Amino acid sequence: MKFKITVLSGDGIGPEVTAEAVRVLRIMAEFCGYDFRFQEKPFGGAAYKAHGSPFPRPTLEACLESDAVLLGAVGAPEFDRLPRQHRPETGLLQLRTALGGYANLRPVISYKPIADCSPLQSSVVDGANILVVRELLGGLYFDERRGFEPDHSRAFNTMSYSVGEIERIAHVGFQEARRRRRKLTSVDKANVLETSQLWREVVGRVAAEYPDVKLDHMYVDACAMHLVSDPRRFDVILTENLFGDILSDESAVITGSLGMLASATIGGTVNLYEPVHGSAPDIAGRSIANPLGAIGSAALLLRYSAHMEQEAQDIECAIRCVLDAGYRTADLARGHSRAVVTTSEMGAQVEKVVADILDSRHAYHAV
Ligand code: NAD
Repeated sequence: MKFKITVLSGDGIGPEVTAEAVRVLRIMAEFCGYDFRFQEKPFGGAAYKAHGSPFPRPTLEACLESDAVLLGAVGAPEFDRLPRQHRPETGLLQLRTALGGYANLRPVISYKPIADCSPLQSSVVDGANILVVRELLGGLYFDERRGFEPDHSRAFNTMSYSVGEIERIAHVGFQEARRRRRKLTSVDKANVLETSQLWREVVGRVAAEYPDVKLDHMYVDACAMHLVSDPRRFDVILTENLFGDILSDESAVITGSLGMLASATIGGTVNLYEPVHGSAPDIAGRSIANPLGAIGSAALLLRYSAHMEQEAQDIECAIRCVLDAGYRTADLARGHSRAVVTTSEMGAQVEKVVADILDSRHAYHAV
């Protein structure tokens, strides 16, 4: 099987964690006899510096011609004062728009061995396993009705959603719930916002097609509270762009580190896979970043783009195994006496366990 992956490492810790995700994908392809082709392209602040644009045209073309895009992260303080069109974050919005993925999937899993890394009590987070399904192409971030009054005395953004935009993301939410524990919580602010009232109405209508999935509605403020007080009550959380952005970062505290969170953006021309975290300029270049979010994103790539479910599970199992064995990057080492590993040592451990899993499966089939 031939499979073309465009790699956009980006800025800060992006290249460090992406290298580890690629390492794990390479060993997987090698063992399974798949022809995975990786092509690295400039993106974000690094691309602006080298090419004058955060999203150069050849990068766009490469992404559109590939089977999947694997992204690190973009942004750095040095780019914060650039005009909006040159900023790395603008490149990211352009990339998402170009690929057309409207559904962002963010699994939030509390792994038992690192449950004590969470600032929340282990008894609260242990066993939590949530999938946040976030609408990604609509709402406040994308509506062009935005700006400043000429004298800068007022600024405004606009949130709007169409029935079609809500329907398509709702179907993704319900389909994902079917692969899991069949419970979906739709999150809105219907007591205040008209967009949320439409959201609630449409999600309720779509639910009729999924009678086997239990639906409840929750206000975003209540959801923010329940996420940290009782995260195990959730299975799939379905929500719009801004709420999803905030809730998924909040849910990082359940996992113990922002570096643990993976994501997939599906539904467009080419799917995009990236860790949830940003470029972390405060730790960039020190080989201490946690690559497990990026490696988890590689697992999602296998699941949603390469349709290699077993192999995706193998990577997820390897992540669990290295944590079970006590390996920790600095962000997970709080209160631990065990040795802290570097970014690439963590990647190498996952690679080794993946190889062991594949080896033992091949040996089993050979018997
Ligand atoms: P951030 O996610 O980069 O960092 C927040 C905190 O989490 C920092 O203390 C950082 O050290 C830590 N952290 C993040 N990822 C980690 C990892 N893998 N391992 C260990 N620790 C990790 O968010 P920020 O500081 O608000 O933003 C920094 C830059 O990243 C900004 O320029 C922002 O615009 C950009 N950003 C990019 C993306 C993206 O590319 N998708 C997302 C969010 C922020």
